Order: sequence, then structure tokens, then C-alpha cells
Amino acid sequence: MRTYLSEKLYAEACRVIPGGVNSPVRAFRAVGGTPRFIARARGSRIIDADGNEYVDYVCSWGPLILGHAHPEVVRGIHEAIRDGTSFGAPTAAEVELARMVVEAYSSIDLLRLVSSGTEAVMAALRVARAHTGRDKILKFEGCYHGHADSLLVKAGSGATTFGVPDSPGVPADFARHTLTVPYNDLAGVEAAVASEEGQIAAIVVEPVAGNMGVVPPAEGFLPGLRALADRAGIVLIFDEVITGFRVAFGGAQQRYGVRADLTCLGKILGGGLPLAAYGGRRDLMELVSPQGPVYQAGTLSGNPVAVRAGLETLRELRRPGVYEGLEEQGALLTGELETLARKFEIPTCTNRVGSMFTTFFTEGPVNDYATATRADTARFARYFQALLDNGIYIAPSQFEAGFLSTAHTQEDLALTLRGAEAAFRRLAGH
Ligand SMILES: *Cc1c(COP(=O)(O)O)cnc(C)c1O
Repeated sequence: MRTYLSEKLYAEACRVIPGGVNSPVRAFRAVGGTPRFIARARGSRIIDADGNEYVDYVCSWGPLILGHAHPEVVRGIHEAIRDGTSFGAPTAAEVELARMVVEAYSSIDLLRLVSSGTEAVMAALRVARAHTGRDKILKFEGCYHGHADSLLVKAGSGATTFGVPDSPGVPADFARHTLTVPYNDLAGVEAAVASEEGQIAAIVVEPVAGNMGVVPPAEGFLPGLRALADRAGIVLIFDEVITGFRVAFGGAQQRYGVRADLTCLGKILGGGLPLAAYGGRRDLMELVSPQGPVYQAGTLSGNPVAVRAGLETLRELRRPGVYEGLEEQGALLTGELETLARKFEIPTCTNRVGSMFTTFFTEGPVNDYATATRADTARFARYFQALLDNGIYIAPSQFEAGFLSTAHTQEDLALTLRGAEAAFRRLAGH
């Protein structure tokens, strides 16, 4: 495979951009090799600067549930742009988008549009802290909620721990307000809530974890969090930046029948443009400025072009059968991948919820960060490279989700399974 132009571009990029990329995982550090510079994309396929074509399972890290350059989304964006790209004043379209979200998420009475998932979670935490008058937050090991200071925290040693900064530049004082508990460990949450009585403002969780690879919530985990939060007067925040409009139109809340107090949305909501939102219970969201005292603002918030991309995306997703189709494709693909792994006697554990999935190179089960990180990352790197050589593009890290889109066809899946067979064969050393 010719990668001359990607290599050249990467070298140039490294001279002017830290690590040559504008978001770290794009750099292929976990798997080695040169990141592919993407020239264009359509449907399920991306084409790199050297003209190589790949079936894409990254889908821009989740947003592109309709695939690349969906005709209705592109048409909508064109129309919106012709009328101006940004006004810094309200528009009818943003009201329509907000209404669609309110209708789809019964727990959301009011919402505010922002430009990134990071911003959405940061603001939701501010609201929770304002409402409760408490400073501490509880998050789960292996969950990612954007790069805001108080969320860039890793667990110290021990089951339930106070955080230490996960990055230089995060004040230890911020990290100290963040408690970290293993995912799916309800007893751990209970213990933390008991020992920090009256001090925890919010529990923030990915209702299906997607940022340590896909880890579904254990039976009873989400309802358990709901009950604990109610009992202790804690605001329950579902970070549905990935799962919103992904695992169901109404997100994980619809799929698992659990209501959040505040919900963060992003990725699919913007249809591939920078747009996100936080919203929830009326009494909480009425705290947000200018209705209430909690300040939050954004020059490009509710940007009309991004709003239009989101609107067109949600309209397509509301068509009958969309989620059933994604579920079916997901089941088919991961079922066949497991069969291949068994055939070549490669220990794997494939987790899937709807159209998001991860094949972990470990025996499994994978139900939290500790079990996820048992995966053989060197083996994953070889699998990744073999897939890439066979025209299949998955996230360049073991600890990420793969995403299907409505644009993925039977032919794409067949091509993928041929690539996967070659990859597993290479791993098995045949
Ligand atoms: C991607 C992601 C974020 C951050 O969103 P950005 O738009 O990248 O800032 C937050 N939470 C979750 C669960 C995500 O997957």
C-alpha cells in the first residue's frame, strides 16, 4: 500500500502541529505507523491522500451514523451556508432542534446548545455544583468526558479513590474534588457516597462506556445509580455524547429505561459538525444564564450550519427501521468476528451495544477498566495493521469503539470479514 503522501503530510504537520495531529489518538502512537491523511469520503468509505480506499468503522469517532457526506445532510448544509454562516443571534432552526431533543429524551425539559462534548459536560457539572452547593463529583475509571480539568483525573490506587491529575497542568486541587470508582461497581459507588456524605454534587457516567472500548452497563448498574443519587440528593449526569442517538434514538436512557437529571449530547447531534448540548430537569436548567445565575456562553453556540447538519441527521434517523437495521448489522458483524477469532484460536472478547462494538484481545469478560486493560495491545496493533492493509479502517487503539453507519452495506461487511480473516490468520501465524 502506497502511503507516500500521508507520510509527507505527516512530516509537514509535525513541524507546525504538536505531534502532527489536532487530537492525540489520531497519531497512531498506540499502533505504530503513519496516520492516514484523509482526502475525501462518501458513505462507508474514506479515501486517503494516496488514493487508498478503506471501509470506515471510525465514522469520525461516532458522529457519522449516516455515513460520510450523506446527501440530505450535505444538501442541508449547503442551504444553510447560503443564508450566512453565523449570526450570534437566535434562529428558528435551533429551536426546532431543541424541540426534537426534548421530544426524544423524556428527561430533558430544557437544553442549551454548545460546540463540543467537553463543553457540555463541563457546563453540566457547573449546574450540578450550583444546584447542590457541593464541590465533589464522582466518575468512573475508564470513562472519558472530555478534557475539562476536573475530568482529566485518573484513579489513584485502591478501589475507590480520590483523583490525581491525569495530565500536567491540571491543579491537584481540582483533581482532589473528583472521586473515581470502577465502572459497574455499584457497591463502590455506595461506599463512596456514604463516606463523602453530603459532599458529592454529581455522578457522571457514560451509560454505555465507549472510551475504554465498549463496556455495557451491568444489569442493575444504571437503575442502582439512579436510586443512590435520589437517596443522597446527587445530580445524576448521563454523558450520552456517544450513546445519544446511537444505541437508540432516545439514547441509553431509552434503551435501559433509566432517567438522568442532566444529559450531555454531542457527536451525532451535530451530524459531523461541531455541536453538542446539555440539558435536563427544568429546575436544574433554569439555573443557567440568563434565566439563572450559572454562567455559560459561546460565540458559535447553536451555529446555524451545525444545527442544520444535526437536524437533517436526526430526521433521517427518525425513519422507521433505522435502529433495527443497525442492530442487525452489528449483531451480524460481531457474531462473524467472534467466529473467526475462535477458528484461529485467538482469545478475544467482543462487546457490542447496538451499532457500537469493540473486540478486546483478551479472554474476557470485559466489564470495567481493569478487565479492559488486560487486553494484549501488541496483538491489537498487529490486528489493526493487518486490517488497514486489507482496506479496513478501525480506531488506532484497543480502547475505542467501532461504529457502524446506515451507509455500511452487506458488501462492506463481506469485505470487512475477508480482511478480518486475513488479520486473524496473520495473528495465528499461518
Ligand atoms: C467524545 C466524547 C466527549 C467529548 O466530546 P468532544 O466533542 O470531543 O469535546 C465527552 N464524552 C464522551 C462520552 C465522549 O465520547
